[in-house]
Formats: sequence, C-alpha cells, structure tokens
Amino acid sequence: MFRTLVSSKETNGAVSIFQHPDFDGHEHVLFGHDAATGLKAIVAVHNTACGPGLGGLRMRDYASEDEALRDVLRLSRGMSYKNAMAGLAHGGGKAVIIGDPTTARTPALMRAMGRLVDSLGGRYITAQDSGIRVQDLHALSETTAFVTGLRASRTPDGEPRTGDPSPATAVGVYHGIRACLQQVFGSPDPAGRNIAIQGLGSVGFRLAAALHGAGARLLVADIDAGRTRAVQEAFGARVLPIAEIHAAAADVYAPCALGGAINRDSIQTLQARIVAGAANNQLARPEFGTALHKAGILYAPDYVINAGGVIDVAAQLGDYDPADVERRVVAIGETLGEIFRQATLDDEPPEVVADRLAEARLVRPPPDPGR
Ligand code: NAD
Repeated sequence: MFRTLVSSKETNGAVSIFQHPDFDGHEHVLFGHDAATGLKAIVAVHNTACGPGLGGLRMRDYASEDEALRDVLRLSRGMSYKNAMAGLAHGGGKAVIIGDPTTARTPALMRAMGRLVDSLGGRYITAQDSGIRVQDLHALSETTAFVTGLRASRTPDGEPRTGDPSPATAVGVYHGIRACLQQVFGSPDPAGRNIAIQGLGSVGFRLAAALHGAGARLLVADIDAGRTRAVQEAFGARVLPIAEIHAAAADVYAPCALGGAINRDSIQTLQARIVAGAANNQLARPEFGTALHKAGILYAPDYVINAGGVIDVAAQLGDYDPADVERRVVAIGETLGEIFRQATLDDEPPEVVADRLAEARLVRPPPDPGR
C-alpha cells in the first residue's frame, strides 16, 4: 500500500532528499501514500543513537510538498537534540500529514497513518502535535502500538490530563524562566517582573496562569481576541497589539506562538533581557542567537526549555509516575542553569553550548570489534 520515495526522480524532481539543505544525515525519510484515504505523509527519523525516534505527528495544509519535507526534517532533527538534552532514551523523529486538519482528518486517515508508522517497526514512535487531537491518536493506535500520549491521568496538582503534552510543557517553560531570572537578576522569583507572552494557546495560557500565580505582571498578545480577553480578565494582563509584543518593555519575552520570533525585524526592537518561551525554532537564523548574546540578552535554547511535553509522553510508554515526571520537568530549570554557567565561562551563546552537549550524546558508540 505504501511507497517509499527516496530520490528526486521519484518525487518529480521537486526535492532531492540526500542533497536537501535540512537532510543532516537523517537515518530514514519515509514518504507514505494511501489511495483509499488520500493520506499523504512523511516520517523522518533523524538519529536513534539514544533510542527509537520519538516526536509528534503534525497535520497541516502545507503550500507544497517541499514545505512539508523541510518542516519534518527540521522538526525531526530538533527532536534528536531535545530528547538528548532531556536525558531520554529516545532519538529524534517526527511525522507530518499533508492536508487540512479541519476537513481531511478522519479516523480512516489516522488508521492509514498508523499503518505507515507501524511499517517502521518501532524505529519511530509518534505522539500529538499541531493539527492532531488526542482522539485522532486513539484512531491511529488501532493500527500501531508505536504511539504515546494517549493516557488519561492527573498532574500532581490535580489537573485532568488527556495525554496532551501542553501542561507539562508549560511547567517546564515556567521553571526555565525562573532559571533565566536567576541568571540575569540573581533571583528566580517572577514576582514583580514584567513578562511578555506571545501566543496564549495550550501552553501560553497555562504559562500565564503560573506566572500570574507567582506575582508576575503580564503583557500578552494573540491573534485570537477571545484568548487575550480571557487572560486579561483572569490574570489582569495588559493586552498589546500583535506587532508590538516582542518590543514590550518587559524583563522576559516569551514566544509561545510560532517559530522565527527572533528575526531580522524583531531583534532590532527587543527590549527584554531574556528570551524564553515554548515555541520551536525561535531563532529565524542561527546568527540571531549570536546577536542576542552580543547584545547581552539571555536566550533559553528552545528545545531545552520546551521539553516538558516530550518528557511527559515518553514516560507514558512505561509505568507512568506523575511525581517523577514533575521532578524531571522541573529539572529543565537546572539543565538551563548549567548551560548558562558554561556559556558564561566560554563566552558563547547558550544554544551553542546546548548543541554541543546534545551532539555528544548523538554519537553512536563504535561497534564492538569482538562481535
Ligand atoms: P496552540 O496552537 O495551542 O497556541 C498557539 C497560540 O498562538 C494560539 O492561541 C494562536 O492564536 C496564537 N498565535 C498564532 N499566531 C500568532 C501571532 N502571530 N501572534 C500572537 N499569537 C499568535 O499551540 P501550543 O500547543 O500552545 O504551542 C505553542 C508553541 O509551543 C508552538 O510553537 C509549539 O510548536 C510549541 N511547543 C508546544 C508544545 C506542547 O506541548 N504543546 C511542546 C513543545 C513546543
């Protein structure tokens, strides 16, 4: 049923996998098509030195197959680094379905996607990402066991969980922000600090709640007026226009919407001394990280600070212990503290230090010559 395409010839000349700028030595890139359901999907497994690839399944109405390929390759590589730095026994992998989740997401499509995941024999374990709901994963789980993030449970503070990684991600980002405050201001306490949150979705809203609870003053923006209104009413947040949130007079700028928040334009007007949020790929280009470092702005490497969700879903593959998950998610703050200390010693941007630490874990040990 599925075909694996690996060459530019087979993909109509549109993309060349091995020469692709984001290929980065991927172990597997699997293109799957299922005629009966219309499934068009790509699974990418970047590195399995630490264990089977683990990363979410995203569904999006991509403008082109090339855009989908670029997205899955970058996300899969990012998961190798994220899982390595979170100390998980998992490598990096990710999957994307090309299609509009509002119209094309059916149980049959999810079951077909499950069969595609299953065809990799456990080298990739899937989970939830944008465009995919927990009930979609339940349909997918009918055709593969290589899926996590399905378990209903409660967080240690009693919040009901459905398998959604967002609550754990928000806890990790909150403790990451505390580590940043400690590094820059000598105290981790958010009380009285001005924190600008861009995006008040599953993670951003919970982050706002935690920071408000700790006495921070919130400045917020979201394209969804209902969300800003809710945060304004619940936490007394000040709402800023979308185009101004990055330039807010704040101690912390927390990008929790889309990637590329630190870009050629935003970096000119940034006022915060800390950039720390949930979004993936916050630096539009690596040189913007160097620019932040030179400007004395502390950047929390995105894949370190937003690893709470994957720590949570990885734990669901075994005997889930909420208290242990909480401890490991809170420890994201300690990991960041160590990265910041090393970055200060070496006078390097934190993301450069984090990449080096992660890459040391991504090297497969040489084969035992005796075997
Ligand atoms: P979400 O879709 O629930 O929320 C995103 C929010 O951003 C929405 O409220 C949306 O209206 C808003 N938004 C979109 N464009 C915007 C813009 N230009 N300006 C301001 N707001 C805008 O997503 P989420 O699950 O909260 O995740 C947020 C970010 O964190 C994403 O980049 C995601 O990839 C990343 N992330 C999430 C998790 C997780 O567990 N959910 C884990 C790791 C990383």
